[in-house]
Parts: sequence; structure tokens; C-alpha cells
Amino acid sequence: MADIIKLLPDHVANQIAAGEVVQRPASVVKELLENAIDAGATTIKLIVKEGGKTLIQVVDDGIGMSATDARLSFERHATSKIQKAEDLFKLDTKGFRGEALASIAAIAHVEMQTKPGGEDIGTHLKIEGSKIIFQETCATPKGTSISVKHLFFNIPARRNFLKSNQVELRHITDEFHRVALAHPKIAFQFYNNGGELFNLPQTNARQRIVHVFGTRTNQKLVPVTEETQVVKISGFINKPEFAKKSRGGQFFFVNDRFIKSPYLHHAVLAAFEGLIKQGTHPGYFLYLEVNPGSIDINIHPTKTEVKFDDEHTLYAILRSTIKHSLGQFNVVPALDFEQDRNLDTPYSFKDKGVVQPKVQVDRGFNPFAEGGGAAVQVPRKKSAKGWENLYVGLESKVGQNLDFSSVHFESETITGSIFEKEEEQTKTGSSTFQLHGKYIVTTVRSGMLVIDQSRAHQRVLYERFLKYGTLKEAVSQQLLFPLTLGFNKTELEQLSHIKDDLTALGFAFGEINEESVQIKGVPVSMGETEVGSILDQLLCDYNEQAGTESFSQTDRLSKSLSRALSIKTGDKLDQDSQLALVNDLFACKETGVSPFKKRIYITITENEIANKF
Ligand code: ADP
Ligand code: MG
Repeated sequence: MADIIKLLPDHVANQIAAGEVVQRPASVVKELLENAIDAGATTIKLIVKEGGKTLIQVVDDGIGMSATDARLSFERHATSKIQKAEDLFKLDTKGFRGEALASIAAIAHVEMQTKPGGEDIGTHLKIEGSKIIFQETCATPKGTSISVKHLFFNIPARRNFLKSNQVELRHITDEFHRVALAHPKIAFQFYNNGGELFNLPQTNARQRIVHVFGTRTNQKLVPVTEETQVVKISGFINKPEFAKKSRGGQFFFVNDRFIKSPYLHHAVLAAFEGLIKQGTHPGYFLYLEVNPGSIDINIHPTKTEVKFDDEHTLYAILRSTIKHSLGQFNVVPALDFEQDRNLDTPYSFKDKGVVQPKVQVDRGFNPFAEGGGAAVQVPRKKSAKGWENLYVGLESKVGQNLDFSSVHFESETITGSIFEKEEEQTKTGSSTFQLHGKYIVTTVRSGMLVIDQSRAHQRVLYERFLKYGTLKEAVSQQLLFPLTLGFNKTELEQLSHIKDDLTALGFAFGEINEESVQIKGVPVSMGETEVGSILDQLLCDYNEQAGTESFSQTDRLSKSLSRALSIKTGDKLDQDSQLALVNDLFACKETGVSPFKKRIYITITENEIANKF
């Protein structure tokens, strides 16, 4: 048989390597930014167009390259950063594989202009799909500028796989954040489609975080510092009350490199244990310095995973350091778990006496054939009882004969009320009870219902917001003192996309300037203190869902809001609140599944119970 094995030509090998290194425009951004940092730049400019699909350019003032190096830098396994395998264990650079430029040049049109300090003349080089188009001398400032155009021009399948410009820009922004946060001593500028997104001066870690995430961030930060033989830790954690329901805002840097580490993340969570509600995540910016010999960053081609020699020790140190910081800054007693945050009233209505917030009331509309009622907004009190006021329309319902004729349980024919002796039981308060702070149990003719309280409330709120959003009839609660919240440019840009819909849901916006937004009103049932975190959450969900679902924006926001505002597992509900929730649930158009497609209740029939005996 003839020999059939052949060595792949370089450009094919490079294209294959590119598959690992370059997943999307953001991967190119990461590699180019890291090269600029390795070149000792003090100012780095990132320019992208159309989510990086048409242009990604990085301009630095680093050491530059000679004509020969410029040419060599595009060869595979060409690097100035290591020479032998042992060098891998004393890395002080981001790069070392010598693959990035070769990979990028294999799948895009790349142009480089570069000049080392002290030279008069620089080099201008153009490569398309690994083919050198030209190399000539040129006049250019000290440093390197690399532009990458038409990414994946020769791999249509990859190109088609890219998401919308907005989504790709978000990935790029994420990478930019990571690099910018790891290097506060370097100035960064970031332009998108000609507009400036970030202009970050050289500064310290705290200021850098604030510049990137907005002035609002500053008050959230608690410093963390520790120095041991194994590791030096610095950085910040967010105070527990700012923990978010979604992930995001968690940053580990090891030797100035952003990394992902579920194990170390767990150490942080362990330190926050008992301080944050279940299902929420603390934000953090933690910078670890370890001996480069004690880690292996070679295990992942894009180098976001790291293997530590002594993970367990690191875990223990991290956990106790953070615990210590939390204690030291006295953030612990600020939390009160007995109290539902939804009940928080930003100011005491009783004490204020004269001035009450103006409330726009949606009196006329009756959304659900018979179940609905006029909207009545009552100021909320700081008692568990106040919870019932989450239920607009409740007052008009309790004690009346409820008509549930549209509700069907299993195959049972229902006549009149599904609740046995409705009124009597309401009075004696025995028709519902709460199980383990999680379920509401109630009786129906056919047996009993076990209702997941959080999902039920999500459904109720979701339908309400959906109605507001589509009919533009939101019930808004005007704030006595408008709130001014700081946002960064990316957030403001996102906010501008959803502002109209938020207005329809009950938010009222005042002045919006370069870095802050004034909030004059919020949907009823939202406490003033939670506005910031809920808007954060909405933006976060908006990002996550962008481009993934075809549903309307109103639908998405209604879902997010219902999740953010719903009562949670563990929230104690008094009798009235339990009953109100059940009533409101069964006044919904859809009662079986939550907005997130989770089952809301189960029925246990009398027969099933009887069979158990
Ligand atoms: P690596 O960073 O792993 O060494 P790259 O393919 O990213 O591999 O870069 C190859 C080489 O090109 C680098 O080792 C460096 O010498 C040179 N280089 C790349 N970008 C720059 C830059 N912005 N400034 C100076 N030299 C650079
Ligand atoms: Mg590199």
C-alpha cells in the first residue's frame, strides 16, 4: 500500500489552530490586548466596528518590533516570551504559545504597523489568510498597531455562527473589562463604531473598578488584603447586601491574569455563607499573587483556567481573609433575615404624615374577566401584613364570593368556589398554611393543592407587568426624592434600549446624562432601596437574553421583574398573604406554570390520600 500520511501545509495547520484560539471577535481582542501588555505598553487603544466583525484594532506604545520580528511574529510557535520548557514555570507574560498572531492571520485580513523605540523607520505588513500581501517600510510612532478585518472571511461556517453585533460587542466588552481591571496602571481607551465607550486613565485598582463599573460601585466595595508565604491577596468584595441573583461581577486575577476558578469561587461563597440569601451571588474583584512556579496556566488554550499546586491551602486562606474583611468592616449586622426586603419602605409613611407619594391609579381596567379588580394602592407598612398590599386589588376581593368558575382541576367539575366554605375559612384563617417557608397548602373539593409560593407570585406579577407593558397603563409610584443612579456607558446604552418598555412597566425617568440616570418613579411594590439592584438585574437579564429569545422585550422585562420582585422561598407569609396569593394566582390567565416554565402547584386528590391508608 502506498503511504498516505502527509504533513499539513502551514496555512491549514494555522487555520486548525485558529479554531482553538479564536472563537469569536472577543478572542482576538483578548490576544491583541495581551500582546500589547506584554510589550510594556502604558497606553492601549482598542477600536472595534460592528461587534468586531468588520474591524478590531489595537494600538499600543510598547516596545514595537524590528522588520524581521514583525515578519516572524506571524509564524506558528514564534514567540519572544519563552525559549525552553522550564520557562513555562516562571512566566511573567500573558502570551507564550506563539500561536495567536499566526492563528488570527490565517482567518482574517491583518495589517500591522510597528516600530521599536529609537528607530526612525517602521514596518508595515499585510497578511490575508496566512498569505503575505506586502511588507514595506513606513513612518509610524513607536509601538505597534494591529488591525484585524473580515474575521473568518475564509470560514463562512464560523462567520455565520457569530451572534448579533450587540452580543459580540458584549463579549468584547467582557474581555476588555478583564484586561482593564487586571492592569490599572495602564491607560485604556475603547471605541465602538467611532464612539468612545471607555477612557480609563492610569490609576489604582479601586479607581479602575469604579471607572469601569460606574460611581455607584464605590460604596459597595470592601477592601481585602492578606499576605502569606503562599499567596498575596488584594482587591475588593462587594458588601453582602449587593449580592445579585445573577452571576456576573466576579473576578479572580492570578498574577495579573483573569482566571475562572469554580473552586476558589466556592471559597468566597463559603466566606459569605449566612450573609447572603440563597441563590444570590456576591460580587468580587480579587487579585492573587503567587509564585509563577506554583501554577500551571498551560492547561487551556485561551488560558482562563489555572492549576494551583496547593489549592486547598489557597482555599482556606481566601476564605478566612474574606471572612475577616467582612467582619472588620462591620457589614455583618447590617443584615436582617427575618425581614422580607420587599417589605422595606424607604421612608416611614406614618412619621412623614403630610406628604405622601403621588400614586397613579389604574382604576378602570379589569384584566381578567371576573377575577380582577380596580387597582388600589395602599402605602406599605413594615410588617408582614404589609405584604398583602403587593396584591393590588386584594382589598376588594377578600371576603367576597370568589368566582373561580374558569378554573379547572383535573377532570373534576367545579361548581361555585373551589375553596370549601370559603368565607368561613377566611375568617377563621384556616384555609391555607405555609409549609417550610416554601409551599402554600390549601384544600380544594377534590383534595389538596400544594403551591410553590415563589413561582405562584412570579406568575401573578408577570401577568400584571405584561398587562402594564402592553397597555401602557402601568401603576407607578412616584418617589418623594428622585434617585440618581450612576451607570457606565455600556449600561446607559443598554438602558436606552429598554427605557420605553420600562416606562410602560411603571418606571419614571428624569434627567439622563453621561453617567447617571434620575429615577422619579418605580412600579408599585418596588421598594426604593432595591431600585438599583433591580435595574442591575434587569440589565443583566437583558444581556443574557439578548438575541436568544424571539419574545417581545416587554415579555422579557416582565419576566425579569417578576423574578426580581417575587417573594422567595423562605419568606414567611401570614394567613392573609397566603390566601391573597392563592386568590391572585387563580385569577391569572395561566395558573399551571411560572413565567419560567416551572410547575406552580400539584394536586393531591382525596383518592390518592385514601389509597395510602
Ligand atoms: P505570544 O504572545 O504567545 O508570544 P503571539 O502570536 O501573540 O504569541 O505573538 C508573537 C510574538 O510577536 C510575541 O512573542 C511578540 O514578540 C511579538 N508581538 C506580538 N504583538 C506585539 C506587540 N503588540 N508589540 C510588540 N511585540 C509583539
Ligand atoms: Mg500573544
